[in-house]
Amino acid sequence: PFDVLVVGGGPAGASAAIYAARKGIRTGIVAERFGGQVMDTLGIENFISVKETEGPKLVMALEEHVKSYDVEIINLQRAVSLTEPGKHGNKNEDLIELKLESGATLRSKSVILATGARWRELNVPGEKEYRGKGVAYCPHCDGPLFKGKPVAVVGGGNSGVEAAIDLANFVDHVTLLQFDTELKADAVLQKKLRSLHNVTIITSAQTTEVTGDGNKMNGLTYTDRVTGESKHLALDGVFVQIGLVPNSDWLKGTLNLSKYGEVEVNHHNATSLPGVFAAGDVTTTPYKQIIIAMGEGAKASLGAFDYLIRQ
Ligand code: FAD
Repeated sequence: PFDVLVVGGGPAGASAAIYAARKGIRTGIVAERFGGQVMDTLGIENFISVKETEGPKLVMALEEHVKSYDVEIINLQRAVSLTEPGKHGNKNEDLIELKLESGATLRSKSVILATGARWRELNVPGEKEYRGKGVAYCPHCDGPLFKGKPVAVVGGGNSGVEAAIDLANFVDHVTLLQFDTELKADAVLQKKLRSLHNVTIITSAQTTEVTGDGNKMNGLTYTDRVTGESKHLALDGVFVQIGLVPNSDWLKGTLNLSKYGEVEVNHHNATSLPGVFAAGDVTTTPYKQIIIAMGEGAKASLGAFDYLIRQ
């Protein structure tokens, strides 16, 4: 059995695995796709100490770093359930069981969950085609690329309104499109947003297409849900802010999740299950970023080590 079994091969999981292996304990890492969201990222400019890099390049460096330690990498395998010792058919007294989609079962004294999250997509024509060519999901990551340009934000919840306020500081103009008849963000954010001179709010707007010239996006089409009219906005970018979905479906009923499905963790990254820790985008820790996921992965690993030496 493993001492530490990490589930997820993104920045949080890679960091957790390295910290565990450096303690000389038996470490494994299971990943559906090593690299996680970073694999889908074009430019990265906020990974501190590296001025500029690309997702796949960073993933290669991550993999190389993990492989320089004695870590068993179980790639292209999806975890489907986790069972506490002595519960629900797990006959082990002190080992947590992790079942994989392939039918295999892995056993470990402690587990670190780092299965990340995914941005909810609009699912309209042009969105995939112009992803990274105008279509963006993370204002902290890609916002500065649109300095002085007209952009839209889709989504009128807290994250959409926060993104619009943030972007309004340096882009030319922000159009906020909300599907509902009104914004859902906290009143204080709405007040701030309405005080900005370069923001237009459009409610009852259903985005129907991202348009472009084949190389990059040049606008967005939406239907006015009141009149049924179709309208087009000329834009250089759009930030889709309609939700971040944690990859925690397989953990429902096993440990405590927030109302958004995030794994609840304390300051030591412990979950509600003894011996199970969690890190990165799948958790309740705010601000989903690479550098944060890595720091949290290190913390979860040290938390697991502390747990193990007390057993
Ligand atoms: P992820 O990167 O999501 O990794 C999750 C891992 O778990 C993957 O290996 C996945 O295959 C695996 N997994 C999931 N479910 C299972 C399962 N059931 N069984 C086994 N394995 C599983 N952040 C920045 O700091 N700067 C940027 O410039 C930036 N740009 C971004 C651009 C895009 C397009 C996207 C999508 C995100 C961007 N982010 C950026 C955010 C950043 O990528 C995430 O915050 C970070 O990757 C989170 O790391 P993580 O390890 O928690 O999760």
